[in-house]
Amino acid sequence: MLSLSRMKSLVSPTLSTLAPKTRRFSLYSQPSRNLLCNPNPLQKPNFFHVKTTMLPHNSPMICIQSHSLNTEASQSPSGEIHVIVGPMFAGKTTTLLRRIKSESSNGRSVAIIKSNKDTRYGLHSIVTHDGDKFPCWPLADLSSFRQEFGSDAYEKLDVIGIDEAQFFDDLYDFCRNAADYDGKIVIVAGLDGDYLRRRFGSVLDIIPLADSVTKLTARCEICGKRAFFTLRKTEEMQTELIGGADKYMPVCRKHYVGGQVVKEATRIASEYQKVQSG
Ligand SMILES: [Zn+2]
Repeated sequence: MLSLSRMKSLVSPTLSTLAPKTRRFSLYSQPSRNLLCNPNPLQKPNFFHVKTTMLPHNSPMICIQSHSLNTEASQSPSGEIHVIVGPMFAGKTTTLLRRIKSESSNGRSVAIIKSNKDTRYGLHSIVTHDGDKFPCWPLADLSSFRQEFGSDAYEKLDVIGIDEAQFFDDLYDFCRNAADYDGKIVIVAGLDGDYLRRRFGSVLDIIPLADSVTKLTARCEICGKRAFFTLRKTEEMQTELIGGADKYMPVCRKHYVGGQVVKEATRIASEYQKVQSG
């Protein structure tokens, strides 16, 4: 078993060697259960060991792999929870969709839930920024899913995707029950922080429950470097303000801190455009 300091030394090079935009790091485990480890998803996890895996771009990555022991506990249904976080425009929904489609093409029964608060692309489908679409269940809360979906259909369901997870107050209980007792694979995508970089909803609360956590990055709209944060362009103050590129932009640390300057520049540019078009 690796010591904590050894784990830190393995994690930190990953952060410093990442290139802009698409590369991602995994805080605790693999980005895809099909990609690097866990060759047999039916194994019952009873203990763990930590190993490093080299990705194609030579970034070392910590991989926590589960192994089964032939014990009484292994007889109960055992699901999985995978969490995808990051700022807006980091590709969270795209990643969620890719994993769901992969599970579906492997013959598993899948369903995606999204918050009914987000109606930007129509209520009954999730749409990525690339225009990729998938049907989904728009709900006010996760506890109603079983009833809405149907108990029999729920029993047969293998994989549940949850998009915009920050909007669900009952995220913790739903994920715990679905994975621990119902044997479901739950893949959760959501914002870890709001526009003030405070925790958003219950997304961070489920990290102790998770098999894997993947933090994606976007590209800073100002300088093109990796963006970890979401800057709100407008002056509105409420935490939940649904919007896209009209209201938010992904930014690096430097440009987040200088956010007021960016906001001002955006306001001036917007007024200039109005003058030009008027
Ligand atoms: Zn920047």
